[in-house]
Amino acid sequence: MVPANLLMTIQSFRDFFPPQVVTLTSDRSMDFQLPEESPVLSPAQREFLARQLGFKLPAAGSPRGEVFTIRQVHGNRIVVAGTESFRISNAPEEADGILTDVPGLPIAVRTADCLPVFIYDPRHEGIGLIHAGWRGTRQQILGETLALMRRHWNSRPADLRIAFGPAIRVCCYQVGQQFREYFPEETVQRDNGYFLDLPAVNKNQILRLGVEARHVFDSAVCTCCEPAYFSHRREGEAAGRMISLMMLKKEEILKCISLFL
Ligand SMILES: [Zn+2]
Repeated sequence: MVPANLLMTIQSFRDFFPPQVVTLTSDRSMDFQLPEESPVLSPAQREFLARQLGFKLPAAGSPRGEVFTIRQVHGNRIVVAGTESFRISNAPEEADGILTDVPGLPIAVRTADCLPVFIYDPRHEGIGLIHAGWRGTRQQILGETLALMRRHWNSRPADLRIAFGPAIRVCCYQVGQQFREYFPEETVQRDNGYFLDLPAVNKNQILRLGVEARHVFDSAVCTCCEPAYFSHRREGEAAGRMISLMMLKKEEILKCISLFL
């Protein structure tokens, strides 16, 4: 039985994104660490997500695909998940971001301090989900994502809606002195140490590319301060993983949900 206060800490950005865009970041009530070579969700993990989302996710091996995952490698490569890539999802690609415009195809990244970034293009009806740690951020992973969205969908930064999920924040993210060179604007010095504001770096990058500040939402949750989340910094290698999931709803699911509203 999961305590009620833990359920409160599962993040949804439903007030920020329109109703056809499903978003969720889990908390520590379920560990979403997945096998490296085959990151496929277990039945218990799918069941947990179904309870949170109010609908069932496609099962592993289902002909219409399953939750699309990647092998995260702290780089800046982004894959486009489409109907073709369904079939090879048992051999997931090394990447740190996923784009899709396929309704009903859930995409997911896992984090335990790194920043999950949800992106929605309302003009094309496409979504993106990014795993941004400091390495990927230093390699401009959001800039790469926006460039790829422009290439594939002709997306314009000014149209995009972007949300930042739970991540380690400047209160807790002590880093080495070299970060002053990596991120001069967002590395602050205090208490004889250096601290990185990772979400601020990503926000500054997208604002410079033309995303509007009023189209950026930040959950402002620190995974290291808040014990309801897994935190690599707080718990070390033993830390579990949260899942961030995003999906464009199919029309029949939308209708079904509107019956309950
Ligand atoms: Zn903190």
